[in-house]
Amino acid sequence: MEAIHEEALAAIEEVFGDRLKRRPPRSTGSASDGALASVFPTSAEEVVSLARMVERYSVPLVALGAETAPQTPAKEGRVLVRFDLMRGIWLPDSDEPWAGAEPGALWLELDNELRLRGRGLTVYPTSAPRATVGGWLAQDGIGVGSFEYGRLRENVVSADVVMPGGERLSVEGEELHSVVGTEGGGAIVVGARLRTRRAEDDVPCALAFGDYEELAGAVAGVFDAGVSLWHLGLVSRELARIRGLGEECLLFGAYPGERDEVAGATLREVASSTGGRVLPSTDAYRVWGERFFPIAPSRPTPVLADRTFVPLGEISGYLKSRADKAVQGTVARSGEVLLLALEPSREG
Ligand SMILES: Cc1cc2nc3c(=O)[nH]c(=O)nc-3n(C[C@H](O)[C@H](O)[C@H](O)COP(=O)(O)OP(=O)(O)OC[C@H]3O[C@@H](n4cnc5c(N)ncnc54)[C@H](O)[C@@H]3O)c2cc1C
Repeated sequence: MEAIHEEALAAIEEVFGDRLKRRPPRSTGSASDGALASVFPTSAEEVVSLARMVERYSVPLVALGAETAPQTPAKEGRVLVRFDLMRGIWLPDSDEPWAGAEPGALWLELDNELRLRGRGLTVYPTSAPRATVGGWLAQDGIGVGSFEYGRLRENVVSADVVMPGGERLSVEGEELHSVVGTEGGGAIVVGARLRTRRAEDDVPCALAFGDYEELAGAVAGVFDAGVSLWHLGLVSRELARIRGLGEECLLFGAYPGERDEVAGATLREVASSTGGRVLPSTDAYRVWGERFFPIAPSRPTPVLADRTFVPLGEISGYLKSRADKAVQGTVARSGEVLLLALEPSREG
């Protein structure tokens, strides 16, 4: 087996040169452990040729992004594909509602580019300063903007993927999960067109609550009253404390400025009927401005101890059962809620 692996690596090295990095001699405690090597392609065509090459030696390929999702070390004999050299972004000339990106582009980079033109992504993850386009597409999920626009897959115009063996396909968002990942066909995402929205004047809002029953009641109240938010997220008491936002648990969100009068008034009604209070605008801007916490380019990535999707009715039970944990939540228009329990990174 070792001889075949060596032959495969030699063949890849002949084409990719020093863009093939052999496995480090010692364990690094990362996804690289157990992999034969990492390869850094510069184009979709190179991913196709890599997939064809490894198939001749029956060596599987595993794509990696920023590793913000918990990684199981690669099984012995795999080759990792990393997209540090495929971070391109392309935007349409006109006001068309999409943006294109290569798999290594960061969600926040893409959104920042769009903001310069008064547009933004319809959805992005709260790990956007680090997470890659390919990584979140492979996982799917709920993110900032899902209250109005739903799950990520509902916001993918099309994705360009390379199948094991090298076939290249263009798939729609809803088809992605059937081709990507270990439960799908093992495809690698090499590019995507993502939905965008006009985003010139979003207004942040934030509400504070003494307990999780009140907070969960307010989330239900927001649905019942049909408040037209773009985003609705929550912050556990422990996470609020760590962020220096006080001792209460929080709901926060944002909506386009033109909805301010109606949305603002309805939120005040929801707060007063559930025992909460609306925070002043300066505090709302602060909570919103730190929505990526604790992800930051300068900080080690926190460990994602749990990533669970629950219905609205289970929010307070989940938060109470993890009273000492830093938990952030994101609410989707379907009533599904993504809850993420975070722990400090191993580096501290
Ligand atoms: C603080 C924090 C906040 C988060 N917020 C959110 C959130 O708002 N919503 C949410 O849904 N999740 C969230 N997550 C989970 C995770 O960050 C996201 O799923 C993220 O987008 C993964 O991207 P990544 O680049 O880190 O991918 P990785 O963690 O490197 O990879 C994730 C999976 O995708 C596969 N993969 C990577 N690139 C490709 C590719 N090009 N083609 C095929 N497969 C590929 C990998 O093999 C792996 O199985 C969060 C995590 C943390 C730590």
